[in-house]
Amino acid sequence: MKLLVIGGGLTGLAGAYEAVRLGAEVTLIEGSSRLGGKVWTEYTDNLVIEHGPDSVVSYRPEALGLARELGLGDKIEEVASSRVVYMRSGNKLRPLPASMGIILPARLWPFVTTGILSIPDKLRAGFDLVLPRKLTTGEDISIGEFLKYRLGPAMVRKFADPLVGGIYGASVDDLSLDAVLPSLRHNEEKHRALLLAARAGRPRGPQKKGASPFRSLQGGMGTLIDAVAGATRSSGVTIITGEMVEASILDSHEYDAVLLAGGVGSSAKLLADRVPEAATILGQIPMSSSTVVTLAYTEDQIGTGAAAHGWLEAQAAPVSGITVSTAKWAERAPEGQVLLRAFVPARLGAIASAPDDELLTAIKTHLAQIMGVRGEPWLTRITRWAGVMPSYTVGHLTRVAAIEKALESTPWRIAGSALHGVGLPDCIGSAKRAVGALLGVDSVVSSGDSRV
Ligand SMILES: Cc1cc2nc3c(=O)[nH]c(=O)nc-3n(C[C@H](O)[C@H](O)[C@H](O)COP(=O)(O)OP(=O)(O)OC[C@H]3O[C@@H](n4cnc5c(N)ncnc54)[C@H](O)[C@@H]3O)c2cc1C
Repeated sequence: MKLLVIGGGLTGLAGAYEAVRLGAEVTLIEGSSRLGGKVWTEYTDNLVIEHGPDSVVSYRPEALGLARELGLGDKIEEVASSRVVYMRSGNKLRPLPASMGIILPARLWPFVTTGILSIPDKLRAGFDLVLPRKLTTGEDISIGEFLKYRLGPAMVRKFADPLVGGIYGASVDDLSLDAVLPSLRHNEEKHRALLLAARAGRPRGPQKKGASPFRSLQGGMGTLIDAVAGATRSSGVTIITGEMVEASILDSHEYDAVLLAGGVGSSAKLLADRVPEAATILGQIPMSSSTVVTLAYTEDQIGTGAAAHGWLEAQAAPVSGITVSTAKWAERAPEGQVLLRAFVPARLGAIASAPDDELLTAIKTHLAQIMGVRGEPWLTRITRWAGVMPSYTVGHLTRVAAIEKALESTPWRIAGSALHGVGLPDCIGSAKRAVGALLGVDSVVSSGDSRV
């Protein structure tokens, strides 16, 4: 079986790695000169700069499993245990409640005592305990609509939107419950109240204080790309960079099957004339944009206190959050240096499309106000990810089913963040499943919950 993989991001590389392992003859073609796609780690001035993802979640096994398989087990890095994540609301930085899940803390006390919610907010969230079920039909609804009913608008504005909307670059009022957080439907079905479900699902036994589910790799996420690319090459995969694949390749007899791993726009374009139905539906998936701004300072320019850990915004700001990379991960900068990452999703409005100098000024002013940062950063990077992040809006799973049906009888499969989850573990899982389908081998990867 001769397989062509289009795209050398993590999805394409993981797909090629899996396919060669299963005995296929594989060629991978990447349009740009760099492998990794959105996974892009820059090494400069002894800094480790992440232009894209900086971590993976540990509760999905695919990414860490791949890292271990590639001999990177001892390079897996946990978030620094001293780090606390803050939420900024009412002009104050307040720690996220301990044992916070994606929507609710698993333990009641941290929720009762958090200053992020007012007493009326907490009382409204408590209605959850008595309200009847909302999801009485199988119809998809938005996460926002569901959570406003169960927990009230403040929980959505102060927790769900910054935490979940941030990942998908969209408002929870648009995001699909069934595609993004299917566990919420299950929890309501089983426990009715989400507060009861959170308690029932909490980890048993002694917990490591502030344990974060996020993991990175020493040297950043680029370490994974280098390892999988190296292993793929040495298993005999031909990797070609700097060449954009055109749609005509799908008609060539050179390959028996094709894995389309170039992203939503790329796959829609390649399939437009061959499987127009799939291409049209792909075109209906809204794509969002985001900008990552990196700033390097010396320690004496930064104030101390809560802000030095980084925070998420639950109020108007020119950023959706600030990560202090040097507080989150070890060895990202030399001693005495501080590396910050600011996120500016398109949904913040005009600031997201402002020219570089205006954007930088707004972020520096904000950092001065919240963190007491003085003076100029000695290094800055602005990475604009334009129209590349699929938003799973209400009805997403119906669209996915139609795309998959349209491709069923073809030797072409789509993998990556388009369909079943935007996180790196989801992308790897989708690549393995697609390769399994193309090669006629049952994949061992289960279809997952798209939580990132
Ligand atoms: C700012 C940001 C932060 C993120 N943070 C996280 C995070 O912390 N954790 C996490 O799990 N996920 C995160 N994500 C999501 C994750 O990075 C992406 O979902 C994932 O990297 C997508 O990988 P991919 O290989 O499918 O696509 P891409 O990385 O986009 O790779 C696709 C590749 O295909 C190439 N290509 C496209 N068309 C063609 C063609 N016709 N011919 C040849 N080559 C082509 C492109 O050049 C590109 O290199 C983040 C995303 C962004 C943008």
